[in-house]
Amino acid sequence: MIRINTPTNIFLVVIVIWSLIAYHFPLINFISNDIGFTSLKSFRDTATVFAVILLISYLFFYLVQVTLPWLLRPFCVVIFMLNAAALYFINTYNIIIDKSLISNIFNTNGDESFAYLHYKMFPYILLLGVLPSLALYRFNLIKVSFVRLSVHALAVCIACLAVIFMNGSSWLWIDKNGKQLGGLIMPWSYIANTGRYLSEQAKRNKIQELLPSAQHLNDEKMLVVLIIGESARSANFSLYDYARKTNPLLSKYDLDIFKAKSCTTYTTASLECMLSYTDSDASDYEPLPSYLSRHNVWVNWRTRNWGEPVIKVNSYNKSGELKLNCKRDDCDLDGSLLTQLSADIKRVEHNKQLVVLHTSGSHGPEYYKKYPARFETFTPTCKSVDLSTCSKEELINAYDNTIVYTDYLIANVIDTVKALQIPSAVIYMSDHGESLGEYGLYLHGTPYSLAPDVQKEVPLIIWRSKELKESRIPTAVDTQYSYSQYHLFHTILGLFSMRAAVYKHEMDIFSGSISAKN
Ligand SMILES: [Zn+2]
Repeated sequence: MIRINTPTNIFLVVIVIWSLIAYHFPLINFISNDIGFTSLKSFRDTATVFAVILLISYLFFYLVQVTLPWLLRPFCVVIFMLNAAALYFINTYNIIIDKSLISNIFNTNGDESFAYLHYKMFPYILLLGVLPSLALYRFNLIKVSFVRLSVHALAVCIACLAVIFMNGSSWLWIDKNGKQLGGLIMPWSYIANTGRYLSEQAKRNKIQELLPSAQHLNDEKMLVVLIIGESARSANFSLYDYARKTNPLLSKYDLDIFKAKSCTTYTTASLECMLSYTDSDASDYEPLPSYLSRHNVWVNWRTRNWGEPVIKVNSYNKSGELKLNCKRDDCDLDGSLLTQLSADIKRVEHNKQLVVLHTSGSHGPEYYKKYPARFETFTPTCKSVDLSTCSKEELINAYDNTIVYTDYLIANVIDTVKALQIPSAVIYMSDHGESLGEYGLYLHGTPYSLAPDVQKEVPLIIWRSKELKESRIPTAVDTQYSYSQYHLFHTILGLFSMRAAVYKHEMDIFSGSISAKN
């Protein structure tokens, strides 16, 4: 076996140069698309970016070497493997690794993670992860003194800083594209954003501030079912003028349809908005289900999804346990959430009840696995997790079939609630939208300021029982997507005839008639 005698300072240079060359093709591609490589300025911008990467990476590996030298190689192995996996996802889904993507990864359950795996990932892991890791152990490291190592590090830093400061004009361009550049730099994109995500989680787990007490204006019966959709974009609902018949059932119902926007493009943060009374620091405050439950409203949360904030409710059911009593033909899908729904509602003695159904909806990339076979309305469908290998038509067909199934589920809930013959409302709203290849983007989680409308425009569909139809009317009809996810808190409080200092009349979709009634 060949072993190469290498002083540690040179070994650090080898690691950094390899990382720079092997894992930054998407970054080079981004730079080339944005500014090209034709002018002197573009070369200077590129040199500045690479000097920054070199500086941070070298300093990092230097610190590992001087503090825990035995850890340097195992550490590089882990980074090479993660870089390889990250590169596969960046290339396959045309994503950048930012905080929302990290949040998605942490909040995706095991089954869904496997859905992203594809045989195309293995060449990445082998060529960019396993082989370079094995190569690391071919080096026979010759220890150099701390002083020599530090002098060498200092020289590298001075060289990098010189490049950075000589190209001060590049900083503006780097600042403007910080999000994309930061999301493509390996391994800092995922290390820094995991740190940001975890510190945000720590903040989330702190004590939620209780909201001021609410008063009930009456004790009449009221049932609200809130269905939280997943990755459903309004652009593909015929209720929102989509040319295809994706709402064959709901189009026959008398519904209030609102044009709404999600507040983020990923589940956890969108859920916070949907359950919060305020758009600032939503995670600091008691969310709607806990607030209602504390005020004598029976709250049942049923979920086939993840990522809701910490909630205190009367009854919390995961689909796995609901499934045990499920007698439908779609118990392995979102249908499980409807298990004994009517019986469970009837059993509750409280006059006011909120049932939340957190669906798995249209979560990609395996859209074709999100609905029963009988909902395969549009064919052929994409049956690969590598979305870029499917034709646009196959991909949209599979996605549209998930919407047809969602249409059926919402209609099922409405029928169930209608049969109870009590004052009631069914609200459906999606957490965020989805990209289906437009602008080369797939799935969701694109930073909000850059995300296309399809990731933000979400359906907000409300059915009301005849009592509510007679007593309440929606506020002015909206055409400008001015409804937000924060409207839910105030609208649901209004439906339960509750008043509190945190209740905002203007955010209650049905407030017009409430004031008339009182
Ligand atoms: Zn989501």
